[in-house]
Amino acid sequence: MKKVLVINCGSSSLKYQLIDMETESVVAKGLAERIGIDGSRLKHQPAGKDAVVQEEAMPDHNKAVEMVLAALTDKEHGVIADMSEISAVGHRVVHGGEKFACSVVISDEVIKTMEECSDLAPLHNPANLIGINACQQLMPGTPMVAVFDTAFHQTMPEKAFLYGIPYKYYTDYSVRRYGFHGTSHRYVSERVAAILDKKAEDLKVIVCHLGNGASVCAVNGGKSVDTSMGLTPLEGLIMGTRSGDMDPAIMQYIMNKENLDINQMMNVLNKESGVLGVSEISSDFREIENGCAEGNKAAQRANDAFVYRVAKYIGSYAAAMNGVDAIAFTAGLGENNALVRKEICSYLEFLGVKVDDAKNNVRGKETVITTDDSKVKALLVPTNEELMIARDTMELIG
Ligand code: AMP
Repeated sequence: MKKVLVINCGSSSLKYQLIDMETESVVAKGLAERIGIDGSRLKHQPAGKDAVVQEEAMPDHNKAVEMVLAALTDKEHGVIADMSEISAVGHRVVHGGEKFACSVVISDEVIKTMEECSDLAPLHNPANLIGINACQQLMPGTPMVAVFDTAFHQTMPEKAFLYGIPYKYYTDYSVRRYGFHGTSHRYVSERVAAILDKKAEDLKVIVCHLGNGASVCAVNGGKSVDTSMGLTPLEGLIMGTRSGDMDPAIMQYIMNKENLDINQMMNVLNKESGVLGVSEISSDFREIENGCAEGNKAAQRANDAFVYRVAKYIGSYAAAMNGVDAIAFTAGLGENNALVRKEICSYLEFLGVKVDDAKNNVRGKETVITTDDSKVKALLVPTNEELMIARDTMELIG
């Protein structure tokens, strides 16, 4: 029985899933939190059993991986007899730059190239590399694969990935649109084709990944042709705490007014903006949804600005592809918030999108949410990035 361990390593956290590839089911999953910080803990969840929480100091990622492996092989809460049952490890890596257009088996050469990409994602790639290093030390001989968030978008044409700034910044410093959430957009667009019983090559799909981080992707014939995140995940939609698109001159104006330096300004745009900044209530859309239901104007303005931005992107991607057959909603908000889906779709009636309220009244389940005669289909498709990483890993290690 082949099992793949999927690792998603952040600077102070490590998420994992052990997936049985014969059934494509999750055998166990968990999260190590506060690595390198006081109060670190591991939450381990074997499938169909209660979660086990272990509070123990984790000074570094090596210790976190060690605890994950111990939990997986534990006599009581474990799910495998020993580590030899793990056929391979699939690592989520945020930025692959222009070097990686697909997943790759990790070698010394690949690590060196990934280190070169770290410049483009200083917050994420170093943490991903630390996770890979820790796994390699504790599981020498187990093949490892890197799956990049940016890879799916490498099919974007130049007209979509170039910014309107001096071309030398692209040639000298690789400044261009890369896009993120690629594994999710790839998974969801493939599911849309399967659900509609069509070939991906014959479909124009717009995928809306609406979570705390959010992005839209235009997928034409199974390939990403445009996406809303850019050089970094800051561009595009209004997100939980990120601003998304705005006039770049706002930065200089606010910095002068508030006497901020560039790092403080970037912090405002990444951590204090978006739905949190506009509503002054919360970055969590559940609180925005409750606020709207209670007639709270601040919640309503954030909701309206969020919905409007998503609808505008869908409209522009329909133009970019000269048409659209299906629009898919995924991630925390896309999978759980029927009202947001309905409000976005209400801007799209001109395209021929007709929501069926009864069908749309669903959570976390693959569903076509439009009427049978809707010219453009809208769907809810729960994302599964971990499964996609595990599939790529199995395919590459054979
Ligand atoms: P994600 O980043 O994909 O985990 O999504 C986070 C966003 O999805 C937050 O704004 C949450 O409010 C929203 N969300 C997640 N789960 C639910 C749920 N069960 N019901 C409503 N909203 C949810």
